[in-house]
Amino acid sequence: MARVFAAKENGAVADVLVLTTGGTIDKLYFDALSTYQIGESVVDRVLKTARVTLSYRIAEVMRKDSLELTDDDRALIARTVADAPEQRIIITHGTDTMAQTAQALGSTAGKTIVLVGALSPARFAESDATFNLGMAFATAQVAASGIWIAMNGTVFDGLRVRKDRAANAFVAVE
Ligand code: GLU
Repeated sequence: MARVFAAKENGAVADVLVLTTGGTIDKLYFDALSTYQIGESVVDRVLKTARVTLSYRIAEVMRKDSLELTDDDRALIARTVADAPEQRIIITHGTDTMAQTAQALGSTAGKTIVLVGALSPARFAESDATFNLGMAFATAQVAASGIWIAMNGTVFDGLRVRKDRAANAFVAVE
């Protein structure tokens, strides 16, 4: 069974920290209103379903569509990353401004940081969320320190990538 640490429980440091910030991955839709809320993160359920055995800690930083993130929000994410005792950190995040947050984290040295999200909510049957979280977990374990984006079955250099909104996919940039 995975060891899920609460914040710094017994001074233990988890193998992987997952910070949740919102985005479509955690959205709940309400047909009657044609609107959505960002619900409690699905990450813990996905990791338990996958019977992940490495230790992890999950911390919610905010619940926002990434189009609503402010500079202060990005500063809070960066501070949370810098203050965390963990070396390997996954951040769940909306895809529209994921590359912008990656740039804001660019000066975070010495940690392996993987941003991940989903183009379709995890609560939908046909969602890329579970696959993407699996990619992010693998990347967090094997990638060198730096900022990475795990989306569309690809591990991108987080500082050299953009979302192509027409294609609904991330593409590397030179
Ligand atoms: N506007 C959404 C966001 O960036 C786009 C869909 C998504 O979450 O990936 O939060």
